[in-house]
Amino acid sequence: MQDKEFNLNDIVEMKKQHPCGTNRWKIIRMGMDVRIKCEGCQHSVLIPRRDFSRKMKKILVKHVDSE
Ligand SMILES: [Zn+2]
Repeated sequence: MQDKEFNLNDIVEMKKQHPCGTNRWKIIRMGMDVRIKCEGCQHSVLIPRRDFSRKMKKILVKHVDSE
């Protein structure tokens, strides 16, 4: 499987949904750690980048820069 490329502001689906029942997360910070925010309840979590790419299932909405 190819490496999943993700960027700031992308909306992603994780392998495990959030306990609130939503499985839509927005990437709000990128770095050594990735911070994602649940689109359902606005709860945010910080995940080490390596863990994030393992736990992320797919990118739902790719953020597009208007250049
Ligand atoms: Zn939630």
